[in-house]
Amino acid sequence: MTKRGKRSQRHLIMPIFVPHMGCPHHCVFCNQASITGSNPHMSPDSITEIINEISEEVALRCSDLLSPVFQGPLNDQLRAQRGRLFRREIAFYGGSFTGMEKKVQMQLLSAVQPLIRKGLIDSVRVSTRPDCIDPQGLDLLKEYGVMTVELGVQSMVEEVLQCSRRGHTADDVLKAVGLLHGRGFEVGIQIMVGLPGDDAQGNAFTVDRVIGLSPHFVRIYPTVVLKGTLLLKWYRSGRYTPLSLEEAVDLCKRAYLKFHRAGIPVIRLGLQSSPELEAEDCIVAGPYHPAFRHLVESSLFYDMASCLMGKSREARILRARVSPSDVSNIRGQKNRNLYQLRERFGLSDIQIEVDMKQPRGSLILMNGRKLDRMSYQTLPFS
Ligand code: SF4
Repeated sequence: MTKRGKRSQRHLIMPIFVPHMGCPHHCVFCNQASITGSNPHMSPDSITEIINEISEEVALRCSDLLSPVFQGPLNDQLRAQRGRLFRREIAFYGGSFTGMEKKVQMQLLSAVQPLIRKGLIDSVRVSTRPDCIDPQGLDLLKEYGVMTVELGVQSMVEEVLQCSRRGHTADDVLKAVGLLHGRGFEVGIQIMVGLPGDDAQGNAFTVDRVIGLSPHFVRIYPTVVLKGTLLLKWYRSGRYTPLSLEEAVDLCKRAYLKFHRAGIPVIRLGLQSSPELEAEDCIVAGPYHPAFRHLVESSLFYDMASCLMGKSREARILRARVSPSDVSNIRGQKNRNLYQLRERFGLSDIQIEVDMKQPRGSLILMNGRKLDRMSYQTLPFS
């Protein structure tokens, strides 16, 4: 639940990618242009293709609502029941939706309207740039059932934005978020760590500024060097050095804790793995890991356990109680946390107990007769 209290419902997001559409920019880390071309105008064929993709995605993901069970008088009741479980959304990702021609935006959004009317989906979300937000554009989105707008903010440090050739300022972000909140949109913010010209201090500044904007959720991506980007040239010439995986995990951990304590959900940590991304030569360098979030959360559990162990060393057998969702986090990648804790604190065994009532992100350590607890909320960090 956020400070704004709007994410109590689970989301089923059906992503439709409109790569680089509407984007006249060339951020140094982005390879969309080299893959798709940077033409902001869409051909009628590609619009038809995307519209077909929407229908296919809905047919695949909403098969329960399309099945005969949902026909007839039970229909409304079952839909209401489903509605309590999660919200279904079509998401236009990959480009700058509101940067596209109005006509194209309307064509794509119109394709979704019959699905909203039939109750197959509840709303639409789009991703875009902060400098592509204006009052008229937002009115259009409202009219077509868009409830969520995700902004690619990346950094709130002017020098970092310039160095990354983002083509917008931190002030554009403030204005865009103000307009979005003012019109009642759910606001998502995407930030990156390890951009050229950024450092730990800049990252902390960005996180604090973003918290001040009260987004409903954030996504955090470590910068990686992709083929076909200017960043790759800079990397090869020695002008840019990516973060190591450990550095990226550490920065993301700090960002994650701050957002968590501010009540802002971090809905993604690290790039989504995909066959394209994991193709042999796509990522040339940088802190990519297919389970990046797990690395961050298991590192937090290691810190919590170490912190609690530092207080007491009564027994050589330790019992750790966690929520079912955190079993892999206390274990760490390939049980690394358990090995390291055993070695560091001279333990002969660590037994894991699962407690359904234990909140996620919290740990209870039973060391002899002593019982200590810690959570993401109370873990000390500087
Ligand atoms: S604004 Fe987005 S789509 Fe455009 S170049 Fe930058 S990262 Fe790529």
